[in-house]
Amino acid sequence: QQPFLSVKDLKVHFSTEDGIVKAVDGLSFDLARGRTLGIVGESGSGKSVTNLTILGLHNPDSTKVEGSIELDGEELNGAPEKTLEKLRGNKMAMIFQDALASLSPYHTIGKQIGETYRKHTGASKQEARARAIEMLRRVGIPQPDVRVDDYPHQFSGGMRQRAMIAMALVCDPQLLIADEPTTALDVTVQAQIMDLLKDLQQEFGTSIIFITHDLGVIADIADDVLVMYGGRCVERGSKEEVLRAPQHPYTWGLLGSMPSLDGPVDVPLNPIPGSPPSLLNPPSGCRFHPRCAFAEKVDGNRCATESPVLEITDGRGNACHLTDEQRREFFSDLAGSQ
Ligand code: SF4
Ligand code: MG
Repeated sequence: QQPFLSVKDLKVHFSTEDGIVKAVDGLSFDLARGRTLGIVGESGSGKSVTNLTILGLHNPDSTKVEGSIELDGEELNGAPEKTLEKLRGNKMAMIFQDALASLSPYHTIGKQIGETYRKHTGASKQEARARAIEMLRRVGIPQPDVRVDDYPHQFSGGMRQRAMIAMALVCDPQLLIADEPTTALDVTVQAQIMDLLKDLQQEFGTSIIFITHDLGVIADIADDVLVMYGGRCVERGSKEEVLRAPQHPYTWGLLGSMPSLDGPVDVPLNPIPGSPPSLLNPPSGCRFHPRCAFAEKVDGNRCATESPVLEITDGRGNACHLTDEQRREFFSDLAGSQ
């Protein structure tokens, strides 16, 4: 079966006063219909840039995008802004950490949800209002027929997040990109929002890309996981594979203490000594080598000179010079010492 979203050798480079920032540098992945891909990595690993680029929300003047982004067979890289605008909010939608940034303070919640619906369907104002109430009901806003006339500031943080989800889903998008949508919420509300997304996915069969720093969220919602470092994918696999038997030293570091697959919602990434790589002058060889405790185990200084190739078989793989045997040995030592 054809993947619903297929990203191939994506490069997103920005010009800045200091030079070219290689925010994403050769990223490939597929997403099937109705699946959830969790993308993890530290800040500046290219997660958010990747997804803004998929949505066509990068600045075309300062950004060079290479490679292919195919959504349901349609190439998005280089597509006219008009095409992208039609797809955004309709076939693909995004929710962010900060609902206030995507909701206007000057219009009622109902008007904003309704306008998105009208824009893509040509519905009447009355129909759009009915649809907005229906969506608010679906995302669990009490008294939706009353709250539809509220302004964003009259909603609590959790309710605003729900309203933003209602707005994102009003046209039944087939791809939903969620960028840390629950980070600012307390754990209880966070769990409710995650349940809501899972229910909506069941109902609509939406494909979801979920960007997060929280491994508990990955354990909770993802089917597959992509680990990003320095603008590249360093490991990819099913959630069970990546959380139970991670292959890449960077993932070992991130996991720190292993989150249990049915554990609490709140498991932040483990801080790794050293700092994320410069994307202006990325390290030679493996971008993780300056921070990697295993680089010296690889012969011939290869980690510092030779960029490891990401090899994926049946959706599983990593980009690292360690042999499978070394990997097993080192990981079982790490797991045993916990
Ligand atoms: Fe570490 Fe070398 Fe593997 Fe990079 S390639 S993660 S430096 S062992
Ligand atoms: Mg981000």
